[in-house]
Amino acid sequence: MTDLYTLSLEQLSALLESWGEPAFRARQVWEWLYDKRASSFEAMHNLPKTLRERLAAETRLGALELAAEQESQDGTVKRLYHLDDGQMIESVLMEYDDQRRTACISTQAGCAMGCVFCATGQMGFARHLTPYEIFEQAVRFAGDLEARGERLSNVVLMGMGEPFHNYDASLAAIHLLMERLGIGARHITISTVGLVPQIRRFAEEGLQVKLAISLHAATDEERAALLPVNKRYPLSELIAACRDYAEITGRRITFEWAAISGENDTPEQARELGKLLNGVKCHVNVIPLNPTGGYAGGPSSVRRVNDFIEALATHGVQATVRVRRGIDIDAGCGQLKSKVLSKKASTTESS
Ligand code: SAH
Ligand code: SF4
Repeated sequence: MTDLYTLSLEQLSALLESWGEPAFRARQVWEWLYDKRASSFEAMHNLPKTLRERLAAETRLGALELAAEQESQDGTVKRLYHLDDGQMIESVLMEYDDQRRTACISTQAGCAMGCVFCATGQMGFARHLTPYEIFEQAVRFAGDLEARGERLSNVVLMGMGEPFHNYDASLAAIHLLMERLGIGARHITISTVGLVPQIRRFAEEGLQVKLAISLHAATDEERAALLPVNKRYPLSELIAACRDYAEITGRRITFEWAAISGENDTPEQARELGKLLNGVKCHVNVIPLNPTGGYAGGPSSVRRVNDFIEALATHGVQATVRVRRGIDIDAGCGQLKSKVLSKKASTTESS
């Protein structure tokens, strides 16, 4: 059965034409899909009933089947979807007091990178998502927001999976977000564990999309213990790629730092991090670790985090702490929630 989200406007036109529909219909259906963000064929009320019925019988709106949904006290919504082959993925919607509505979406079912503290990494890799499976997660939230007069404003590729391990599909999904949902590149963030060749490739894409790097440790020994990928791409190569990225694009990189009590929140790590990032155009987001079943570490205390941030400031590195959203629903399988663009909690003056 044809999934309408996988069709270009030209393909949709060809389909409707083959059904004997007038030429303007394709544009009408397209508007229902992406401007009015309809979530059912019945809602498309300016289409003839017979056409709506035929669409419902012979096509479908997307491939994601909602399996579970939880809403947090802070308004964060976490969803679990079944894919066609039974795989499951999560996406999260975060609402902020201002107009910001941010969808955090997955790029893979599971993840092959094996970061020890990450719930997705602990699951292992199942498969890559298609561009449409990635894109549709945002479409679904956009449709629900539309129905209550709100707009999806931001998207972060920080859900399950490593976007740069599924590079082409992630990039294709970004283009769909921009072209079909009208999300500006500056309102899209892609987060990577640090795949160096892809960071270099991404620098050449000419996109204004934001780049976040999951750093979490400032020495190779410490980082390799947390993120096995560091054995393949050690810090010297990673930071060199980041410097080049900043130079080529003129853009500031965000470094993610999951603060783990007694591990990477020490004055020594702050000093090493300060040295490592010396002169790199960047910002560090410190997020207290979200404990997961497969890892014994716990979150740093507020005081430790603040001390760490102050120490970074003395090295000229700008950092802020981010609150975890949806904490009461464990949004994002123990990982989405903590990293994602969260409201600034307590911030220190940074230089
Ligand atoms: N694979 C990509 C994007 C998905 S993970 C990446 O690693 O960047 C999104 C973010 O959540 C990453 O910064 C990751 O390090 C972080 N994360 C994963 N598990 C976490 C946990 N238990 N606590 C806090 N942050 C976590
Ligand atoms: Fe994969 Fe990112 Fe989790 Fe690492 S932190 S296992 S790269 S999803």
